Amino acid sequence: MLVVGAGPAGADLARRLALAGIDVLLVDQLPDLAQAAFSSAAMPLAALERFGLPAQVVASRWSRWELIGPGPGSRHWQAPSPMGVVLDFGALRGWLADQCQRWNGRVRLGLRAVSSQRDPDGTMSTELRDRGGRRLQVRSAWVVDASGQGRALLGEPPLSLAAELVRGVGVEWLLEVPAACWQRWADRLAFCLGTDWVPQGYGWVFPMQPGRLKLGVCRLEDLGAGQPEAGASQPPLGTVLQRLLGRLLPAGEAGFQVLDRHGGLIRSTIGRREPHRRGRLIGLGDAVSTANLLGGEGIRHALTSSAVLAPLLLQALASGDNPAPLQAYEDQLRRALGWCWPLSGRLARRTWLGLRGPAADRRLERLLNGLQQNRAEDLSALLFDYRFERYGLRALPYLLGWR
Ligand SMILES: Cc1cc2nc3c(=O)[nH]c(=O)nc-3n(C[C@H](O)[C@H](O)[C@H](O)COP(=O)(O)OP(=O)(O)OC[C@H]3O[C@@H](n4cnc5c(N)ncnc54)[C@H](O)[C@@H]3O)c2cc1C
Repeated sequence: MLVVGAGPAGADLARRLALAGIDVLLVDQLPDLAQAAFSSAAMPLAALERFGLPAQVVASRWSRWELIGPGPGSRHWQAPSPMGVVLDFGALRGWLADQCQRWNGRVRLGLRAVSSQRDPDGTMSTELRDRGGRRLQVRSAWVVDASGQGRALLGEPPLSLAAELVRGVGVEWLLEVPAACWQRWADRLAFCLGTDWVPQGYGWVFPMQPGRLKLGVCRLEDLGAGQPEAGASQPPLGTVLQRLLGRLLPAGEAGFQVLDRHGGLIRSTIGRREPHRRGRLIGLGDAVSTANLLGGEGIRHALTSSAVLAPLLLQALASGDNPAPLQAYEDQLRRALGWCWPLSGRLARRTWLGLRGPAADRRLERLLNGLQQNRAEDLSALLFDYRFERYGLRALPYLLGWR
């Protein structure tokens, strides 16, 4: 079994298969999984427990939401105990890959998969290139494309779904700040909302290990809706991030140091109707649009996809590489992601792409006012579990675009 991509999806699948005694090779183009830790990686505590992740992959815990804006004001929701964690994304990938190796799986870094095809005898033949450009051919019964939103082997979703493909561009800095500055942000997930902060997107400050903060911005682009023109009129994301930094952590007060700059794309189709498999090539995680654009969240969903695929693959392998069990993959994944999934995708497009002027700010303000009387835990249920029904009639007109 060849798994391409040692992100949360691929590395988790590889460790599950290795644990079951399968001969698995996990490859990634990165030479070191601690590099390019592009994800801010906030998740609820329940997910940490559900996926059995250890303390060593956790950077910090949070018990409060702070939503800043529109404008300079902020709203707070405080829970009596921690509601979630911010993962150290590099440590998460490293731990998953290490677990794979401990169960006798093989992990090879610095290898980029270029193409994969089925040979006449039925085996898959995948071409890899090392960092010096040298080619390697790997033959395997199955190949899993867990290469993220770039979908290196499965390729782009069909053109007929182009209008459904929504993408967010994110830039993030890891900062070292004095203890007093870190304390201000230490217990919370803070988001900056409104056009004066980030037009067509949102910003965030997440606590990491003591003395470290992650500060980022993400802007949505909807290529299907003619977004390039609108996007082009917006300031570059780097400028937006600098502005955010200047307002939230004035240099004179904070005296911070930038330790790392990273970023990336997050891309999903709203209905997730793209093919998940081509013969013995199977897509996993972001490669089949499991990232949710509403909160820019994909780690939990990538892990969900590997939890769904692993038992189906094991059944296929146990029955002499019979692909029949995999026919249930798309359906089971759809069910695992839940019925609110497409709704949250539409809401993401409407909320973030529509955030372009004073009318959108006022609409957002009304929504936030409506949430004010809720508990911090309810906000988590809304943002992490997409429990829109809890807001019933109050949220429905917003979801449907009536206000
Ligand atoms: C700026 C930003 C902030 C984010 N913040 C959050 C957050 O707070 N919480 C959250 O849950 N999610 C967040 N996400 C989304 C989350 O990171 C992804 O949804 C998640 O990592 C998807 O996991 P994956 O394993 O499917 O793909 P990835 O994590 O993208 O992993 C794919 C792996 O494949 C490798 N690869 C790619 N092409 C090849 C190739 N041809 N050959 C070999 N290897 C290859 C890559 O190096 C990578 O390691 C964020 C994303 C961005 C861009």
